[in-house]
Amino acid sequence: MSGAGPLHFAISARCARSKARVGRITTPHGTFDTPAFMPVGTRATVKGILPSLLAETGAQICLANTYHLLLRPGEATIAALGGLQKVTGWQRPMLTDSGGYQAFSMADLNSVTDDGVTFKSIVDGAAVHLNPERAVAVQNALGADIIMAFDDCPPSENDAPADESLPTTDPSAAPRTDARLTRALRRDGKSAKGKYDHGARLKIANERTARWLERCKAAHARPHDQALFGIVQGGTDLAMRDWSAHAITNIDLPGYAIGGVAVGEGSAEIAKVVRHTAPLLPDAKPRYLMGVGYERDIVAAVLAGIDMFDCVLPTRNGRNANAFTPTGQIRLRNAKYAHDTDAIQPGCDCHACRTDPTTGVHFSRGYLRHLFGVNEMLGPILVTLHNLRHFQRLTADLRATIVNGDWPGFVTRWPICAQVVTEGLTGNP
Ligand SMILES: [Zn+2]
Repeated sequence: MSGAGPLHFAISARCARSKARVGRITTPHGTFDTPAFMPVGTRATVKGILPSLLAETGAQICLANTYHLLLRPGEATIAALGGLQKVTGWQRPMLTDSGGYQAFSMADLNSVTDDGVTFKSIVDGAAVHLNPERAVAVQNALGADIIMAFDDCPPSENDAPADESLPTTDPSAAPRTDARLTRALRRDGKSAKGKYDHGARLKIANERTARWLERCKAAHARPHDQALFGIVQGGTDLAMRDWSAHAITNIDLPGYAIGGVAVGEGSAEIAKVVRHTAPLLPDAKPRYLMGVGYERDIVAAVLAGIDMFDCVLPTRNGRNANAFTPTGQIRLRNAKYAHDTDAIQPGCDCHACRTDPTTGVHFSRGYLRHLFGVNEMLGPILVTLHNLRHFQRLTADLRATIVNGDWPGFVTRWPICAQVVTEGLTGNP
């Protein structure tokens, strides 16, 4: 990257009626166009999808999860096998998260301190400690082009307990139905002693995330070929977002992310936080909205100036027979599709929908419903391919529309996004 660091971001076009921009990011393993949607390959594979087919969906970068890979097979094993790009066969840009989000949201946490997090391994129950230094060392060993800072991820306000419902007993004794409450309390670091104060928890998370970012940057052993992104926290409290954005962007890094908006908020809350926070991040650097989301959330965020997205929705829903279309999801297990000879979405150019040029045949909704009914693996593979293509077509259409300004045309192709386009555009066409 000739002295310019591990990442280069070039903005080629800006929307006349919003803060949206089109760009291209260059990494040591190639380039990707923004706005970009990154499929999630949790355990160093997008479940069931060959890398060549993933590329055919239009994906130019994909993501792997540090939390899962450090548990199995361990970063030393991935490094011994040649690093993430070699082992996966995806010789293109990759991003790893820090493991923080999963440690906070999924794991059975033992403790959260200013040093880091100790949680119980889902594999063998052993105590695993994750802190900024360890999270960066694991990502240095995995070798992705973009790596993420280890941050303190507080629960959303919806998850956080109301004062009245606060148990006074040890939260580990809480019934199973209170698992979310228990997690929220444990993430406080003070357990159940004293009332839960969501604002105080956000403040702790903000300050800790900023201190941890300094430690991540200091521990980063490969700044020449891996770009470290900082993460802005602050929940849905806009003043907290201001504080965090200021503290995080004071630390010079190749890119910045908005975290903590994919933890249970509704679309209106996500859009509110993103519209407020995106302009607080440097214009000349990539902005990444972590873990979001549905099409409407992505479009609202693009109009606010976000460049990168990741989400498990297309893959997870694909495995559950839920197919995305521009008018909403269809549930292929529904009996009404039993004799339906149409493709999932007639006219779609994905592997599942398109007509094979030599045979003249496409996969029908009825056939897909049958595959799911008998648990055949081709069902999840085909609907995953369709859903991944759907999100790539959405971001490609956004890139084209930002350039040509034809938002009315965009809305006719993406009816589910009509309202957020109206809300997100300013001025006359
Ligand atoms: Zn399709």
